[in-house]
Amino acid sequence: MPKSPFFAACEHGPRPFGSVAWVLALLTLTVSQLALFGQAPAQQALPTLSVVVTPHGDNAPAQRDKPYLILVSIDGFRFDYARLYGATNLQSLARRGASAPKGMIPAYPSVTFPNHYTIITGLYPENHGIVANSFYDPARKQKFVYTDRSTSGDGSWYGGVPLWVLAERQGMRAACFFWPGAEAEIGGVRPTYNVLYDPRMPNEQRVNQVVDWLRLRPEQRPHIITLYFSDVDTAGHETGTDSPQTAQAVRRIDGLIGRLSAGIATLGLPVNLVVVSDHGMVNTQGPWINLQDFADLTGFQTVGPLLYPPDEAAAARVYAQLHNASDKFVVYRRSQLPARLHYSRSERIGDPVVVPTGPYLIRAYASNDPKEVPPKGMHGYDPQSMEAMRGIFYAAGPGIRPGATLAPFENVNVYPLLAKILGLETGPIDGDPNALQSILRMTSAPALRRPGALVPSQPQR
Ligand code: AMP
Ligand code: ZN
Ligand code: ZN
Repeated sequence: MPKSPFFAACEHGPRPFGSVAWVLALLTLTVSQLALFGQAPAQQALPTLSVVVTPHGDNAPAQRDKPYLILVSIDGFRFDYARLYGATNLQSLARRGASAPKGMIPAYPSVTFPNHYTIITGLYPENHGIVANSFYDPARKQKFVYTDRSTSGDGSWYGGVPLWVLAERQGMRAACFFWPGAEAEIGGVRPTYNVLYDPRMPNEQRVNQVVDWLRLRPEQRPHIITLYFSDVDTAGHETGTDSPQTAQAVRRIDGLIGRLSAGIATLGLPVNLVVVSDHGMVNTQGPWINLQDFADLTGFQTVGPLLYPPDEAAAARVYAQLHNASDKFVVYRRSQLPARLHYSRSERIGDPVVVPTGPYLIRAYASNDPKEVPPKGMHGYDPQSMEAMRGIFYAAGPGIRPGATLAPFENVNVYPLLAKILGLETGPIDGDPNALQSILRMTSAPALRRPGALVPSQPQR
């Protein structure tokens, strides 16, 4: 099977690819055009929807009768937003399926790349290696920057086995309409269908494409699909958690969840819909805190608030300088971080490690941008001591028990649940395969014989 993808871009002429790619090229053309026709003249050109197809062949016969799973992430959607702002489609999802009314607990740090990648691998950031949105690797002597495709699209940065890789390896086709890591070849595998990240991509087109993927022939139809929206996070940062803009973003994305649910209902397929967020949001307090004002960072590599010492003596010195320097943060030597944060095992975390004690803005160095405005909302804080960092979890479909509710749980447990729904065998992970067992609608078969192997529910139409 060829490992490198080719681009089935609808704006390009024919390429030597097989029927799957042709179907995709035609579908994307149709979807792009329909979306354009339905809108007022655009101020700026909309991006073209291009699906990158990496052919892995048809779904294996054993996978074709399995259910389907759409995993949606609404970035920065705090656990209480649905009730606060009247997200009626999410609330209906909770009634039809399962929810966590008090939220889902992110991994530390409660930011986008580490948490999306935790949700999709079942590993804590210290074990999957994406320890921040941007960080330094002292062994590689290189920086990972989430907005730089040359690193975010390079699979050598990513550990663990993302769900789409797990599926593809077991002969089940996967599709990603955005997810951190999805652009990279991880463990030698890419999702069969993928769209390169472009925040300008209209949300309606994302939903249309996901539903269109489920209209492919059963042999080619992906059983696991990821989908991502950034609007709620953006509004939260720019305008805070209590603004009309954040309320509107919540209702707008909730409308898209309704559109997606309606699209699913037309298919007559056993589709499970799981909606999560990577973290919550909190209104910030005070101006930026620059660690350079408390400690001599000479010789350190720094990325945001992360500190990479040139040697042990420098680490010890800066630790001593930051210790008790402010009530806005606590500093730890990396090996001394509270075990509950699971944030010690990787050199990419740096040393010492600064943990904010509240909703404060902390970085190593001041910015030299005179027009800089501090964000009104932020996240990244200790998700176990700050409730506002909790995200959402909703799930409904043939595999899920209607009306089931969950007490707050760590998002590392989502992966084994999703693997069970799809009947996929998992390898060693941090997540507990039994943690979310109670929301599954089981067949008459007994529960687990061994961790990670479940008799999936029968598809119901
Ligand atoms: P955060 O502030 O940590 O919540 O990061 C949110 C930002 O991550 C959003 O504004 C997105 O534009 C960006 N983002 C989300 N997914 C991706 C991706 N797959 N590739 C690059 N950037 C992304
Ligand atoms: Zn995020
Ligand atoms: Zn954010």
